Amino acid sequence: MLAKWMNCIACCFNFDITPVLKMTSIKNYIDDFLHLLFPHICIGCDSDILNDEDILCAECLNSLPETGFLGTAQNPVEKIFYGRMQVEHAGSAFYFNKDSVIQNAIIQLKYKNNQKAGIFLGRLLGYQLINSKRFDDIDAIVPLPLNDKKLFRRGYNQSLAIVNGITSVWNKPVITDAVERIAFTETQTHKDRIARWQTMDGVFTVTQPSLIINKHILLIDDVVTTGATLEACGTAILQTTGVKLSLATAAYTI
Ligand SMILES: [Zn+2]
Repeated sequence: MLAKWMNCIACCFNFDITPVLKMTSIKNYIDDFLHLLFPHICIGCDSDILNDEDILCAECLNSLPETGFLGTAQNPVEKIFYGRMQVEHAGSAFYFNKDSVIQNAIIQLKYKNNQKAGIFLGRLLGYQLINSKRFDDIDAIVPLPLNDKKLFRRGYNQSLAIVNGITSVWNKPVITDAVERIAFTETQTHKDRIARWQTMDGVFTVTQPSLIINKHILLIDDVVTTGATLEACGTAILQTTGVKLSLATAAYTI
């Protein structure tokens, strides 16, 4: 199609486009060859997708389990924190169903060294935050910090990858050095809520309160389950003068 149009334009202006067409087809051959060497696969269905920025094909993208409640007050994520800490607004973009595309994306992000999965999820979360209008007065975004040991092991903070996705579509400042995770906690997966809360107590500390004082902070994590980690970090943040706290995660486990 492109070649046909170029031929038409060349005919009108009376110049020879053969070299241009040759270069275009050489570029196509190189692209095809690189794609053969480094195929770009949809993490949902293993189909071969072409756009380098995407991790999902159009079909998987359309079937993502959106919660649909991020824009609604008193939603299930806000209810997790009732009576535990003061939260202005909270919500998650997607349900974290077992063996789902979202679970696969989170596994890619946390254990397969795939930061793109976080940026991708963050971008989708960012659109939902914008559309909800409930988070318009957020002053700054804080990714849930990792401790140094985990950061070294993984090579990056998965929450920061999600935040980078959010800010690629939503113009908000990011603060990464106000809060620190001071203790190392082993995986939380098999602990009940009380055991998790006890493990998390005192794990986070605000090292530079001047960065967040009197601000409405949006704290971001990948998945919310019992809310123990977000509560521990949020409680530390709320000890700073004049801070208001909201929460958002890419996924929510029922
Ligand atoms: Zn797919």
